[in-house]
Amino acid sequence: MNANTISTLTVDGIRAGLRGREFSARELAEAALAHAEAQNPKTNAYILLSPERALHAADRVDAALSHGEELGPLAGVPVAVKDVIVTKGLRTTCGSKILADYIPPYDATAVIRLEAAGGMIIGKTNCDEFAMGSSNENSAFGPVRNPVALDRVPGGSSGGSAAVVAQGTAVLSLGSDTGGSIRQPASFCGIIGVTPTYGRVSRYGLVAFASSLDHIGPFARNVRDAATLLEVIAGHDLLDSTSAPAPVEPYSAALTGDIRGLKLGVPREYLKDATGETAALIAQAIDRLKSLGADVREISLPATDYAIACYYIIATAEASSNLARYDGVRYTFRSGSSDTLTDMFQNTRGEGFGAEVKRRIMLGTYVLSHGYYDAYYLKAQKVRALIAADFKKAFAEVDAIVAPVSPFPAFKLGEKTSDPMEMYLSDIYTITGSLAGIPCMSVPCGKTQDGLPVGLQILCNHFDEARMFRIADAFERM
Ligand code: GLN
Repeated sequence: MNANTISTLTVDGIRAGLRGREFSARELAEAALAHAEAQNPKTNAYILLSPERALHAADRVDAALSHGEELGPLAGVPVAVKDVIVTKGLRTTCGSKILADYIPPYDATAVIRLEAAGGMIIGKTNCDEFAMGSSNENSAFGPVRNPVALDRVPGGSSGGSAAVVAQGTAVLSLGSDTGGSIRQPASFCGIIGVTPTYGRVSRYGLVAFASSLDHIGPFARNVRDAATLLEVIAGHDLLDSTSAPAPVEPYSAALTGDIRGLKLGVPREYLKDATGETAALIAQAIDRLKSLGADVREISLPATDYAIACYYIIATAEASSNLARYDGVRYTFRSGSSDTLTDMFQNTRGEGFGAEVKRRIMLGTYVLSHGYYDAYYLKAQKVRALIAADFKKAFAEVDAIVAPVSPFPAFKLGEKTSDPMEMYLSDIYTITGSLAGIPCMSVPCGKTQDGLPVGLQILCNHFDEARMFRIADAFERM
C-alpha cells in the first residue's frame, strides 16, 4: 500500500477494503505510520508516534476479519489523539515541559471506546500547552505548521490533530475544545471539526483546563466520518459525573441530504469583525444553504460582545485551580535546584510552565481572590447565563445557527504572538457556543484567493447533533 493512500481513505472505504481483502489492517497501520514519520518534519504535528499500539490494534482487526467476526465501526481506521487526552503507557505531555515524561496509568474513556470500535491509535498530536492558545505556538514541543500553507499556523489549541487529518497521515483524530480549539483549527486546515454538546462525550482522561467548558470531539475529512467517530465516543460514562445519560442517536443515519424547510439563523453580531474574504465566503455559503431549501433569517445574540471577557475570566479561574496539582510532587517534572519545599513548588512551576499558562494562572487566581471574586468571577458567571439565554431564545425561533468560525483565515506564524489580546480576539465566534455548552462544528466553505481554507460554523441546540450533521452533510454534498 502506498503511504499516500491514507490521505484519500474514508471510514467506509477502509471497511470495504478490509472486507474485500484489498489490504489488511496491519498494512494500513504501517502505511499510516510511515506516512506520518515522513511528513512530520514538515508540520511537527505529532509529538509521538505509537507503532506498537497501532500494530497491536491492527492485528486484532485482522484476526477478527480472518475469523469472520463482525468488524467494529472504526475497524482499521488510523486515528491520532491530542496529547491532552491520556493514553495508558503512552507518554501524554499536554504540550508542556511540566508533563514531558508523564506516562499515564489509565486510558481516557474516549480512547477506550475508539479502540474497542477497532480504531488504531498511531500517535499523539501536538497542541498548545494545556490547550491554552489559538495558534499552536504555545507548545513546549515547538509550533505546528499548517499543511495547507507551511508558513501559517494550523490554529489552536488542537493544531496537531487538525494538521494530521488535513495532511492525510491520519483518517480521524480527537481534539479538545474549551473555547474553539476544535472548530478554529478545522477551519484553518480545511477539514471538519466537531464540538459536541457539553457532557455528550466523557471527559474522563481529558486533562482538565477549564472543566465546565472542556469537550472532546472529532476531526475528519468528511461529515460522515466525523459523525461515525462521535457516535463511537459519545454516551454516558459513570467515570464522569458531568457526562449526560441521554441516549446517543445514530448520527450517520441522519445524513439524508435534505434540509428543506429548516430554519437557519444568521446572528447579526457575528460578521462585523470578519475580513472581506471570510465574510464573502460565508455569504456564499448561506446562499448555497438557501438554494438547498433552507429558510434563512437574521437573528440577534446581543450578549456576544461580552463573550471574550467572560470566557477569559471563567476559563482562567478554572485553570488556576485545575493546574494547582502540578507541584513537583504528584507528577513527573521537579526542579532540581531548591532548598525548601516552598522553593521546590515555586521553581517547579516557574520552570515547568510556559508564559501563557503562567499568565492564565495569575489571571485566574486574581479573579478568584477575596475582594475581586464578586466583581469578576461572579459577574462573568452572570454574563455566561445571558449568553446561554441568547441561544435559548434563538433556538425557539430557528433550528440552527450559521456563522463564521473565525474572523480571518490562518495567519502567519509569529504574527500574533507578541499580543495576547489580539490572539484572544480570534476566538470571538467560537467562544459563545462553548460557554452555552451547545453542539457546534466547522465545515469547509471555500478558500481565499491565497488558497487558505475558511470554515462555516453550524450551531444547534443541546443534544441536537443529528440535525447539525444533517445540515453539514447536505452542505458538503453540494
Ligand atoms: N483559544 C482559546 C484559548 O486560548 C480556546 C482554547 C481551547 O478551546 N482549548 O483559551
